[in-house]
Amino acid sequence: MNKPGKRSKQGSLNSTLKTLGKRKREIELSRQALREKERMVATLMSNLDGMVYRCRNDAHWTMEFVSEGCHRLTGYHPEELLLNSRISYDQIRHPDDRQRARDEIDASLAAKRRFFVEYRIQCRDGATKWVWERGAGVTDDGDKVLTLEGFIEDITERKLSTQALQQAERSFRSIFENATEGIFQTLPDGRYLNINPALARIYGYDSPAELIASIGDIQHQRYIDPTRRDDFMRLMQEHDVVTNFVSEIRRKDNDQIWISENARAVRDEAGNLLFYEGTVEDVTESKLNQEKLVYLANHDPVTNLPNRLLMNDRLRQMMLSAQRKRSIVAVVLVDLDHFKLINDTFGHNRGDQLLQTMAHRMLACLRENDTVARLGGDEFVLLLSGEGRGEAMSQAAQRVLNVIARPSQIEGRELSVSCSLGISIFPRDGRDVQTLLRNADTAMYKAKELGRNNFQFYSPEMNAVITERLELQTALRVAVENEQFVLLYQPKVDLISGQIAGMEALLRVKDPAGGLLQPQNFIRLAEESGLILPIGEWVMREACTFNKSLQDRGLPAMRIAINLSARQLTRYDLVRAVEQALRNAGLPAEYLELELTESMVMHEPENVIATLGQLEALGVQLSIDDFGTGYSSLSYLKRFPVANLKIDQSFVRELGQDDNASSIVKAVISLGHSLGMKVIAEGVETREQMTFLMENRCDGMQGFLFSRPLSADEFITLLERESRGTDQYSILRQLCSSLGDQSSLQFTGSITGN
Ligand code: C2E
Ligand code: MG
Ligand code: MG
Repeated sequence: MNKPGKRSKQGSLNSTLKTLGKRKREIELSRQALREKERMVATLMSNLDGMVYRCRNDAHWTMEFVSEGCHRLTGYHPEELLLNSRISYDQIRHPDDRQRARDEIDASLAAKRRFFVEYRIQCRDGATKWVWERGAGVTDDGDKVLTLEGFIEDITERKLSTQALQQAERSFRSIFENATEGIFQTLPDGRYLNINPALARIYGYDSPAELIASIGDIQHQRYIDPTRRDDFMRLMQEHDVVTNFVSEIRRKDNDQIWISENARAVRDEAGNLLFYEGTVEDVTESKLNQEKLVYLANHDPVTNLPNRLLMNDRLRQMMLSAQRKRSIVAVVLVDLDHFKLINDTFGHNRGDQLLQTMAHRMLACLRENDTVARLGGDEFVLLLSGEGRGEAMSQAAQRVLNVIARPSQIEGRELSVSCSLGISIFPRDGRDVQTLLRNADTAMYKAKELGRNNFQFYSPEMNAVITERLELQTALRVAVENEQFVLLYQPKVDLISGQIAGMEALLRVKDPAGGLLQPQNFIRLAEESGLILPIGEWVMREACTFNKSLQDRGLPAMRIAINLSARQLTRYDLVRAVEQALRNAGLPAEYLELELTESMVMHEPENVIATLGQLEALGVQLSIDDFGTGYSSLSYLKRFPVANLKIDQSFVRELGQDDNASSIVKAVISLGHSLGMKVIAEGVETREQMTFLMENRCDGMQGFLFSRPLSADEFITLLERESRGTDQYSILRQLCSSLGDQSSLQFTGSITGN
């Protein structure tokens, strides 16, 4: 049986036990939680990339605790570091950084702040690492720092990339500062964010700061043509980049320069425009060079007129505009007559001067928007725009003829040139540049044919003439290659002895049909094309050889005359060619005579005198042909070593019909004699003419009356007969000896009957 007191004691014990149990469970639980926490901290610490530590605040940073990360960070195991058992942390710190790190930590501790410090460590394997250490001091009651607790992590990679970044930044800065190109960053409104010294220099400022301070309204302040700025902005907005954008700008000193800009828009990740950046280059010099090149490519250096290239371009433009306005364009080809002769005679410098003078004159007599271009040589092209059927063009062409014909001074001498003009009209005569030029050319040749110094409008019929000309030129070339030439010989008769005293070699081209082409049909073309040089050499060789063959036959020795062209006299080593021809033929020089015209010798008399002197020294005789048709300066004539004057047949033809002609012939005879020259009359066709010449003491004659030009064989026969005294020409001898008694003579037609 339970006593009540005993039962209550039992009850309180039970409850105490219960409480104890409960407490024990609680303790157990909190231990578990603590263990859990410790485990968690340990896990965390061992997984941390870095080292958690606690060390004494002493000279060695003696470690009391280091986490697992120690090994990964330093290569040492935690136990090797703990209590400096193998190495102290102070030894691990890089010697160069040791003191600084300590000073920084000490300073933070003294200020009761957490510390943050970066330095290098030397790992067990010798490698150097950058670490970042942060922590705090743990103090005793008296505020003395006993230990430090903190965390050290490897920042080598970050550090290296920062260093690389800094290095890059430094080198970019140096490029920026030292570049010769201007570099800028601007806000979209034009304000500068950043500019380099070169940009300031380009714009004429002493420093970037001065340039930035000066800027107000870029568009109007800088750009000569403010719309360029709009173009720039438009391109930028459309493409986010602008390349080689060239514009003319004004510098601080108001000088104008050309710059080339390259720029791009810089946007953030969301695509918002942050700023523009780019470069500026002073391209003034290359721009000017480029302009010069473009100018040179488009202009003729002698006259500064547009050249063919630019002329083509202008003509195209004018055609387009004429098409719209239903108007016309005239293409006028201007060719100076005999310019080659002037060039050859006076030299290229004088020739160029003449071209310049003519260019100025043409420009001055045309309207401002007409074009005068030079195609080369003595060829100019005028482009005239107009209305109607071209009456204004005729007037313009006439004006050009007039201004060109005005005399010019060259080397103190007055010289007159003329020109021939060919005109084609757009759209009537062609709708493209080539056709219009070709047709103007055709018309120009027509003008030359009609005696030069005139203008001709193109007509389709002209093409036939040109084709013929081209064919002739080709034929002439072929003739040169195949030596399809022949010489005819016209006797020259001595009017005193009545004997054949010489002969003139006259050139013919054998045409494939068997006929002979007359000089009037090919000499000019041969001169213009330069073919006269090889042809002339052939004539010289052939004439010398023929004359030598006559002498070899035992026929009376006499002189053979050949005709020279201006080109042969000026361009060509004439003396040497003559010498060679004589030597090859074995003909003594005294049996060769050269006929020159007045215009040939009067063009550059001083030079000609020298050449003629050399020829005379060779022993060759010189004659002035067609005397009276050109201009002669008597003072020069006197100085030329000329033996004979040949009175042109145009005067002889008029003898007896025109008193003037008779006076001229008489005057020439006495002039020639007074200069010590012999006078020979050309183209004597009638008895009356011959009688007049004899009466007036003319020395010799040449003409159909006595003989037409003969083939070599005919000429030989003639000479043989004469030397046998069996010729019919005794009549002439009679005539000569019975001078004054011609009435008894029945003398009609050509004596040779040829
Ligand atoms: P030119 O030297 O004055 O020659 C005289 C021209 O008058 C020749 O013409 C001759 O046939 C012609 N003729 C001679 N007698 C009479 C006559 O009584 N009445 C008429 N109406 N004419 C007469 P051709 O042979 O046609 O030569 C013409 C011109 O061609 C020559 O004039 C000369 O300037 C040139 N020529 C001829 N051969 C040569 C040559 O080999 N070289 C050069 N450069 N020119 C030449
Ligand atoms: Mg002649
Ligand atoms: Mg003549």
